[in-house]
This record gives sequence, structure tokens and C-alpha cells, in this order.
Amino acid sequence: MNNCPFCRIVGGEINATVLFEDELVLAFLDIAPVNPGHTMLIPKEHHASVTTVPADCLSRMISLAPKLAQHISRVVDGDGFNLHLANGACAGQTVPHCHLHIIPRRPTDGFNWGWRSLDELPAAEHQSLAEAIRKRVQESLV
Ligand SMILES: [Zn+2]
Repeated sequence: MNNCPFCRIVGGEINATVLFEDELVLAFLDIAPVNPGHTMLIPKEHHASVTTVPADCLSRMISLAPKLAQHISRVVDGDGFNLHLANGACAGQTVPHCHLHIIPRRPTDGFNWGWRSLDELPAAEHQSLAEAIRKRVQESLV
């Protein structure tokens, strides 16, 4: 995909500060970091959605991310980290190539996710929602 900036990084057309690379994934420093050490971990193959990343590559990303995060956090004197993956524009995905953010954190870094908590659903609605989800999961995964 020629116009995808992350594919262009993988292809060497755009420079990036690469931290790690193997046959499946590439990790590089984010050019607009939340905190120093903010890293993007991507599949080398273009996939807009995490749902289409092949299992071997996704497994590599998920197993590698905490290890990279620990090393990055130690280098930047972090006290923890976030792993964040936005899938779809409405979820905040701004580059249409699957990417996992590794964000080292400090207690005083001032970054706030802006989480909210909706009111708890009525019990019947809660159960109905769970049943609908379980039904779809069972139909597609079993
Ligand atoms: Zn791409």
C-alpha cells in the first residue's frame, strides 16, 4: 500500500527511529510522543485492522510488547506503561495500518486517558447483552 505511511516506513521510503525489527514486526519511536520513549509496534505487512493480522504476527506483537515496554520504561526511568491499540477511526485510529502504542508512564506525567463510566445497565439488559455477545462468539469461534 504505497500511500500508507507505516508501509513506507517498513519499505524504507520514510525514515523512522527503529528500535526493533524482525521478520514480522517493526518497532519505532513515535514522532509525536505522549511521553519520551512512546513507541509504535506494527506488523510489517499492511493490515488496516487488527482483526486481519495473521495469528503468528499478532502473537509476536502481543508477546513482544510487554518486553519492549519494560526495556523502554527502564531507559526513560518510567514507572509503568500503557499498551494501547485503537481499531477504527471512531476508536481513535489515525493511521490505517494496525499499530500498538507502547507508552512509558510516570506518576507525574500529566497524561490522562479521559475514561468515563456509564451508569450500570439494568440487570435484564446486562444479561441480554451478554447473551447476544456469547452467541456471536460461540458461532464464530467454536
Ligand atoms: Zn500500511
